[in-house]
Amino acid sequence: MVKRFSVGKSSYGDLRGIEQYVMSARIALQVLSVIVDFNAWQKQRGAVGSLSVNEGMRSRARQTYLWVNRLILAVVVAMPFTSRHDEVLHGNAIDFGITMPDGSNRALTPVEFAKLHELVEARGGTHTGINFGEQWHHEMATRAERLPPYPNAAQLAAGTAATPPPAKNTIPTIRKDDDMTAAVKIKETGARFQVGFGTLTYSSSTKDADLLRKVFSATDELHELSLADAKVLFAQCDIPTAYTDAKALLAAQPNGRWSLQALAVQELRAFIKKGGK
Ligand SMILES: [Zn+2]
Repeated sequence: MVKRFSVGKSSYGDLRGIEQYVMSARIALQVLSVIVDFNAWQKQRGAVGSLSVNEGMRSRARQTYLWVNRLILAVVVAMPFTSRHDEVLHGNAIDFGITMPDGSNRALTPVEFAKLHELVEARGGTHTGINFGEQWHHEMATRAERLPPYPNAAQLAAGTAATPPPAKNTIPTIRKDDDMTAAVKIKETGARFQVGFGTLTYSSSTKDADLLRKVFSATDELHELSLADAKVLFAQCDIPTAYTDAKALLAAQPNGRWSLQALAVQELRAFIKKGGK
């Protein structure tokens, strides 16, 4: 088991409500101190939203799952264990976001990013995302601390954090171009799906669904949605809303898996078979 130290809960995508971690107690204190200072600044200038960690260490199980299923899920993922957030090699990487009072997540504004980079540097970190176009990506313990962290940073950060309501029965946020998915159970039918942008996997048994969820998020979080809300989510993710009915999905895709990418391949094959006309 990899050692891990909490830096608070994420509000981002399918990681919403899930505790995020870094590799050492010192790094956790540094990150939490950044959050304390940022939120004090935010409050002082009258801006809404608290700094939070979107993602810290990424487990190897999640990386492997995403890699193995990258074609089905139609996601761009790093080879296993080469992620900048790999739990063993890079337990110092942090993606920051803003948690709003209603528990939703937003990106930082340019002014907020500038302040964040400054605060991170003071606490011994570096905005390494500058090298690959990611404003939110930082790596801690990459330089000397100009300011030592607050010894009680966890307590202080908890006092300034937004307190998101439980995500259980809300429509999760899934963005295009990320690998986030959400476990969804439809109230009326009890059908369970793993939903991503342009990807859908039906879980034919509870055991199957639990396994999927563990690999993805390592928590018990499950979004229980009404059929109407599930249709909204499917539409947002470019998934045919008819597939909220598991029978319709299985009729079209006997393995219970559907993706925009697989659909494109099917169409291309049919086109080639017809002589490319
Ligand atoms: Zn990152």
